Amino acid sequence: MTVRTRIAPSPTGDPHVGTAYIALFNWCFARQQGGQFVLRIEDTDQVRSHPASEAKILEALRWLGLNWDEGPDIGGAYGPYRQSERSAIYRGYAEQLVAAGHAFYCFRTSEEVEAIREQRRQAGLPPGFKLTNPQLNAQEVQRRLAVGEPYVIRLNVPDSGTCTVFDQLRGPIEIDWSQIDMQVLLKSDGLPTYHLANVVDDHLMEITHVIRGEEWINSTPKHLLLYQYFGWQTPTFYHLPLLRNPDKSKLSKRKNPTSILYYQRMGYLPEAVLNYLGRMGWSMPDEREQFSLADMLAEFNILRVSTGGPIFDLEKLDWLNGEWLRGLSEAQWIERLQAWAFNEAYLRPLLPHVQKRVEKFSDVISLTSFALSGNLKLNAADFHATGLLEETTRKILQFMLWTCEQEAEWNKNVVEKICSHLSQLLDLKLKLLMPPLFVAITGRKESVSVMDAMVIIGSDLTRARLRQALSVVGMPSKKELKDWQKEYQTL
Ligand code: GLU
Repeated sequence: MTVRTRIAPSPTGDPHVGTAYIALFNWCFARQQGGQFVLRIEDTDQVRSHPASEAKILEALRWLGLNWDEGPDIGGAYGPYRQSERSAIYRGYAEQLVAAGHAFYCFRTSEEVEAIREQRRQAGLPPGFKLTNPQLNAQEVQRRLAVGEPYVIRLNVPDSGTCTVFDQLRGPIEIDWSQIDMQVLLKSDGLPTYHLANVVDDHLMEITHVIRGEEWINSTPKHLLLYQYFGWQTPTFYHLPLLRNPDKSKLSKRKNPTSILYYQRMGYLPEAVLNYLGRMGWSMPDEREQFSLADMLAEFNILRVSTGGPIFDLEKLDWLNGEWLRGLSEAQWIERLQAWAFNEAYLRPLLPHVQKRVEKFSDVISLTSFALSGNLKLNAADFHATGLLEETTRKILQFMLWTCEQEAEWNKNVVEKICSHLSQLLDLKLKLLMPPLFVAITGRKESVSVMDAMVIIGSDLTRARLRQALSVVGMPSKKELKDWQKEYQTL
């Protein structure tokens, strides 16, 4: 048997450190066994998926050096590797289950479904969504289909008993069927849900080992049921622990930067990021802290992953990155520094802004320091100097952050659109809106235009700076956050 592993990210946001973490372990597992590592893009959620997000995932994995053997960019014998290009495949499988009585057409509206959930809640029944007698007779189904009634296809799930998920890292995990929804497999738009597409693709792509995050454990009973109904061989499951913030909560962008491209822009070395991720729940047999990907591969044993939630701690990563930087030769230093920011591609966009503002080259550094720094030295006084009320400043920063988080693409047009959108939302002229943003992004009273600065430093660092600015001016209280969120959503 050839070992085949995969990562299957959904391109719905930034390339997350969690994705890189899962990719690293899948990569090591496949490489060590002489197998293949596949990259599959799970973009069945048409509303949230974005090609720019997919491009960033590929860029981030490439930067880390986690190369894949098959994927949307390079193809392979089991393609296509983007689920949106495979949509014709899934319906047949869903209908095959219907024909065998393992799934059924469901014509209930979302209001009806919610009412059934509510009845179950009130009756104190377990949370799984269940229907009694879900199966309409074939004639009735045909009649409704003929008149074009909207429907979904749902999975038949037992009402009682337990399902045993065998996780290689945790042993058997028992989950009651009563907790498990009669899951939608095919949505009313004809596209599959994650559960159907994921299982069908893992089977068709001959994935032998599914190594993914522990947040999927509760979905595994549905997946096991699908394998059983189809009569397919089940892959072996490993659920890696979730990465956590230092306060033990699930790693989130509210508390830690989570985009791999943020770490790239900040000037971390990919070796250090991989090394750090390799230490999440795993360690070298001799417990040494600094090791390369090749070292990790040589000693890799997935069964040594410990499932207690590993803490993603920036201080530790900084320390490790420093060690890596000190280990580079002079020639490597120069090469890496150039690759980071001292190169034409990064500096050229700064030029038009700098050229017209300086009198000598020695003026350049102070004017461009915003683009060559990580966190800025911000102080509250600079924000006060804008003359805006503190609350208004905080609101501008927070609304800006939310708006930026929604953008998959990043260029001058997007940034201009964001700023004018924000000016409408807050009913503030750009002239008033921009000064606090200027301080947050450039840390200075004068520099290049803030919109250009945002484009140059990129979306990840822009957001990090907005968060940093908020921490200086004062984070919104819980109540403020709630009120603002409401206001933001209704606008
Ligand atoms: N598309 C899922 C995700 O975004 C994949 C989960 C899995 O590996 O099964 O994480």
